Amino acid sequence: MIVRILVAGGAGFIGATLCEHLLLRGHTVVCVDSLQTGSALAIDQLRKFEGFSFIKQDIVQILDIGAVGTLDQVYNLACPASPKHYQKDPIKTIETNVIGTRNLLDLALQNGARFLLASTSEIYGSPERKPQREDYWGNVNTTGPRACYDEGKRCAEALVTAYRSQHQTDTRIARIFNTYGPGMQRDDGRVISNFVTCLLDKKPIEIYGDGKQTRSFCYVDDMVGGLIALMASDCTTPVNLGSDHEVSIMELACIVGRVIGKSVEITHCPALIDDPRERRPDLDKCRRVLGWQAITSLELGLRKTAAFFAKTQQAHVV
Ligand code: NAD
Ligand code: UDP
Repeated sequence: MIVRILVAGGAGFIGATLCEHLLLRGHTVVCVDSLQTGSALAIDQLRKFEGFSFIKQDIVQILDIGAVGTLDQVYNLACPASPKHYQKDPIKTIETNVIGTRNLLDLALQNGARFLLASTSEIYGSPERKPQREDYWGNVNTTGPRACYDEGKRCAEALVTAYRSQHQTDTRIARIFNTYGPGMQRDDGRVISNFVTCLLDKKPIEIYGDGKQTRSFCYVDDMVGGLIALMASDCTTPVNLGSDHEVSIMELACIVGRVIGKSVEITHCPALIDDPRERRPDLDKCRRVLGWQAITSLELGLRKTAAFFAKTQQAHVV
């Protein structure tokens, strides 16, 4: 069955990969994106699919999506995900998560569509429990530099829950953990794009703080499979999606060097304020309820990511 799907944030890193997977399954996809951090090139590549259309619009404004027909599903991925970008205009980040999510929930309500929120592991803040299970309420600084994103997403989860109870909107909440892969922007500022592009450019990499802080990285195709499985499921409570292979940032630097085949020169920089010390999801729920798990090893995913950046670098030079 062909499903009509709106993807907000579909020009972004995860969103563009999601659009492609949905179009390959034969669905009709309307992408709504302001191109704040998204890529016009990604949109051009998606235009080869007949079922694709693009509307350049900010979700904070009242949505005017014209005559696209009745929607069956709405995915909300619209929000800058890299600290570098979401901290640039913190008020806008809060508005995007709260007002933007509300506008999309209203659209889902008008269409009787199912709504999925791309929430984040950041709602756990700097967690005091490991691994992080969905019933952990988190440890978030409400006034730190990450608050606009963390609290914005926490409010978005509360809003989705309120629409569910007050308007019976059919909702899903994905708590996405660190995701990487082809399609990331070179200047995105996140650790994997920074490390890979620095090594390819033969520049030293920067480690913020002691490098003992940990993250668990999930390959983008796996993540998109998880989002689609969650949208198709009956699970209406939040679900962690990610990989539980936890590495320190120092270990990550060594793995990236090994995969690319270059020696790693490290510059140590001051630690970022409120940088979470560790992050690893408990994935029992997504395995049990969705029958989903990430399958791409970090080494293989990094190899594909490095190949992508090497290709885009060449295209840049030519
Ligand atoms: P991204 O920055 O690459 O993409 C976000 C997209 O949203 C961009 O295309 C941007 O232009 C668009 N956007 C931002 N504000 C908008 C607005 N007001 N109106 C319309 N469009 C807007 O980020 P990403 O890595 O693809 O992340 C996608 C979603 O997943 C985000 O909601 C993010 O919070 C969530 N997430 C991502 C990660 C990760 O590791 N990538 C982790 C946790 C959660
Ligand atoms: N980081 C780093 N060097 C970089 C970019 C990031 O040491 O060039 C660290 C950062 O301090 C954090 C981790 O890598 O501890 C992951 O950062 P990222 O911005 O990718 O994701 P997030 O902090 O949002 O999980």
